[in-house]
Amino acid sequence: MTKPLSNMQQRDVEAVLHPYTDAMKLRTTGAHMITRAEGVRVFDDRGRGYIEGMAGLWCSGLGFSDRELIEAAKEQLDKLPYYHLFGGRSHEPGMELAEKIKEIAPGNMARVIFQSSGSEANDTQIKLAWYYNNAIGRPQKKKIISRMKAYHGVTIASASLTGLPPNHRDFDLPIDRILHTASPHYWKEASDGESEAEFLARLVKELEDMIEREGPDTIAAFIAEPVMGAGGVIVPPEGYFPAIQAVLDRHDILMIDDEVITGFGRTGNWFGAQTMGMQPTSVSMAKQLTGSYVPLSAVAMNRDMAEAIEENSGRIGTFGHGFTYGGHPLGCAVGLKALEIYERRNIVGHVRDVTPTFHRLLREAGQHPLVGEARMCGLMGCIEVAPEGRKGFEKPGAVGTRLMEELVARGSIFRSLGDVLAVCPPMIISEAELEELFAPMHEALDVTY
Ligand code: PLP
Repeated sequence: MTKPLSNMQQRDVEAVLHPYTDAMKLRTTGAHMITRAEGVRVFDDRGRGYIEGMAGLWCSGLGFSDRELIEAAKEQLDKLPYYHLFGGRSHEPGMELAEKIKEIAPGNMARVIFQSSGSEANDTQIKLAWYYNNAIGRPQKKKIISRMKAYHGVTIASASLTGLPPNHRDFDLPIDRILHTASPHYWKEASDGESEAEFLARLVKELEDMIEREGPDTIAAFIAEPVMGAGGVIVPPEGYFPAIQAVLDRHDILMIDDEVITGFGRTGNWFGAQTMGMQPTSVSMAKQLTGSYVPLSAVAMNRDMAEAIEENSGRIGTFGHGFTYGGHPLGCAVGLKALEIYERRNIVGHVRDVTPTFHRLLREAGQHPLVGEARMCGLMGCIEVAPEGRKGFEKPGAVGTRLMEELVARGSIFRSLGDVLAVCPPMIISEAELEELFAPMHEALDVTY
C-alpha cells in the first residue's frame, strides 16, 4: 500500500511535467519536495536534511548557500537586471567574464559567445562548426562525430549528439549529419582478453575507419566530454585523447571539448581537458560557471574560428545567431564572482586534497558483491551495480534505482543512471562530509543485494 500524496505533491503532479522522470509512476509516489539548502545539504518539506552528493545536477560546485554569490546577484539586480549583447550593445559583466574565460580556458581561445544552458552551448557549437566551414569555403565538411554514451544536452541538435537511447527514442532523433563512435569504456566494451592498450588501439582504428568511410572532407568536428558524465562517469583509458587528437589533426577535424560538468575544478584541474590531455579548438561551459545559482553557458573558440566568423559576418552583414538571455548580466556577474572564488579559495587545491578520501570511499563500495566496477576522476565518480542473476529485478536499471532510494532514505543523495550510481558532490565538501555521504553505503548495498 503506497502512502497517499501530500497536498503539495498532489498539486505538483497535476501541474508539472518532470524531466527525466517516469511520469506515470510519479502519480503514485509523488515528487520529493526540496524547500531549502545550506552548505552541501538540502532539506525537504518534512524538515529532513540530506547531503547532496550530486551537487544538484553535477553543478552546484560551491554548495547551496554561498553568500558571496548571492550578494553578487543582488548587486547586479540593483544595477542592471537585464540587458543583451545583440547588435553592437554590451555590458561590463559580459565583457569581463569573456575576458576571464579567455584567460583560463584550455587551448588558446580568442572569443566567447554566451547562452543559458549546456544544451544551447552545444547546439551553438554545431552551428559554429557549420558556419565556420561555410565561411572558409568547404561547405561539404559538416558531419559531427560524437560517441555512444555521450551526453551533450536535449535540444534537437544536442540531443542528437547525445549517445543514449532514451534521448532519441520516440523523439525521432538523431538528426542526420551526426555520427556516433564507440564509448571508451574498457570494463564494458572491451572484447574478451583484450588489454587496455589493445582496446584503445581498436577505438582509434574504428574512428579512423569511420572517417575514411564517410570521407574526411565531410567531417567537421569531433565532440567529447573529457570524462563522460550522464552516460555513466566513463573515464577513458590512459592516452585516449592524445591518440584521438592525432587522428583528428590528420584529417583537419575540429575538437569540441564539452566541459559542462568537468569545467572549473571538478577533475582536479581547472578543466578536464588539462586532466585528459585534450587540445580543443572550442570549449562548452555551463553549470559550475556560475556555481549554478543563475543559468549561464558559454562557448569559447580559437582565433582561427573567431576570425573566419568575423569575416563572414562582414560579408553577410550580420552574425545571425544569439539568444535573448545569452550573456544575461545577472549570470555574468555571478559567473565572475564564482571564478574569483575558485581562484581565491583555491578550490582546485581543495578538490585535490579531498580526492584521495573520495576515491577510497568509492573503492570500498566497489568491494561489495553487488558492484561490478567503481570509477572515478577527481570529484566525480560512480559505482556500477552488476545485477545479473539477482531475483526480482528483471528491468535494467531497477537495481540502481533501488540502491539510490535506499541511500536517499538514509540521508545521502546519489543519482542512478540506470545501474550506474553517480556521485559528484559540491567541490567544497569536506572529508568529514564525504565520510557522512558514504556512511549508509554498505547497509544500502546489503539491503539491495
Ligand atoms: N553537456 C554535458 C556534458 C552535460 O552533462 C549536460 C547536462 O548535464 C549538458 C551538456 C546539457 O546541459 P543543460 O542541461 O544545461 O542543457
